[in-house]
Amino acid sequence: MNRSAPLEGCAELRTRVRELTASWRSAGRYVPRSDSWLRSFDPEFSKALAADGLIAMTFPREFGGAGRSNLERLAVTEELLRAGAPVAAHWIGDRQIGPAVLRHGSRALQEEILPAIASAEAVFCLGMSEPEAGSDLAAVRTSATAVDGGWLISGHKIWTSHAHRATHAYVLARTARTERKHEGLTEFVLDMHADGVSTTPIVDLAGEHHFNEVRFEEVFVPAHRVIGEVGNGWRQVVEQLSFERGGAERVLSSYPVLVELIAHAAEGDDRELRSLLGSLVARLAVLRRLCWDVAGSMDAGRAPVREAAALKYLGNAFEHDVIEALRRTGSCREPSPDGVYGQALLASPGFGLRGGAAEVLLSLIAREENRS
Ligand SMILES: Cc1cc2nc3c(=O)[nH]c(=O)nc-3n(C[C@H](O)[C@H](O)[C@H](O)COP(=O)(O)OP(=O)(O)OC[C@H]3O[C@@H](n4cnc5c(N)ncnc54)[C@H](O)[C@@H]3O)c2cc1C
Repeated sequence: MNRSAPLEGCAELRTRVRELTASWRSAGRYVPRSDSWLRSFDPEFSKALAADGLIAMTFPREFGGAGRSNLERLAVTEELLRAGAPVAAHWIGDRQIGPAVLRHGSRALQEEILPAIASAEAVFCLGMSEPEAGSDLAAVRTSATAVDGGWLISGHKIWTSHAHRATHAYVLARTARTERKHEGLTEFVLDMHADGVSTTPIVDLAGEHHFNEVRFEEVFVPAHRVIGEVGNGWRQVVEQLSFERGGAERVLSSYPVLVELIAHAAEGDDRELRSLLGSLVARLAVLRRLCWDVAGSMDAGRAPVREAAALKYLGNAFEHDVIEALRRTGSCREPSPDGVYGQALLASPGFGLRGGAAEVLLSLIAREENRS
């Protein structure tokens, strides 16, 4: 794969995704929506992608992956997001848990988890945030106590998207109490069906249920389900967050609204709208280039912490500005809460919070800049 290939590179992969999404759409098997990567959940669609080698693309073949590059994966994720496709069931496992297990997991964990993600049988939720630990992630209180053959995990996570549907959870827990809160953290993979796991729904602003509170009461986790080194969780999770933040979903959550704007502009001669569109489309080209650079860094074996934070910060601002352009110009053909504009508007307060609040990303970028 040529790193300087044009943004529309990987034409064969893009065509495959376009054909698959078009056939599902025309069969009425999904309706495109805004913020689909978080809110549109269909394990059957994820399995169809898996059968076509379009999940776990960057995992080695021995673990059920396709041995492809992050640049190729980016072409596929862009097309899925453009199509507003139902990708939430595999998104977290494919985007960050698989890569984290590949970087740090033991052979036993890799053999157990990676093929299950690649076949879309494993659906992951992300147990990072807690009632007292959001932006300050290192403040997590969920504890893991060593016992014969493994660990007992107890604690309380919140805002856990799709926990009620997940087969597995990634959990960041405290295995040692030290004076420095960034030390003594460890990453685990849990079975969501294990004894002692319970979930309580949280309905969001849009009236949708993807959030949950999750409680763990002495949940047994076998020793091989530790990701990487005991006590090294902070360094590892910082890397993982670059996979979480550095993808096209941080730019394209409101893409269906942009399509709506373009359709409206084509129908009339609204100069303000055309001028706004020009600047939005130019920004989108720059953001796609940033996604391309982040994917290239991952292909070079790096975890691009600062670049991914910058991409998310700028991408979230773009997502908001697309929605605002539609509101300002009144260019909506379908202004109902169920339409792509209503969906994006109701989801938008979360854009700059999930995966790291905007202000926190700015501090991180400044800190990393000072370090380099
Ligand atoms: C749609 C959505 C999906 C989510 N899904 C998940 C999930 O699946 N799993 C999971 O673990 N979590 C999830 N989260 C939680 C998310 O990661 C947290 O909301 C986020 O980390 C912020 O934490 P908080 O909500 O506790 O806000 P707080 O930490 O209380 O921050 C609130 C505000 O305070 C300000 N602030 C806080 N700290 C600082 C600082 N150091 N410097 C400057 N300003 C600051 C910022 O303005 C920030 O927006 C999700 C959140 C959303 C919105």
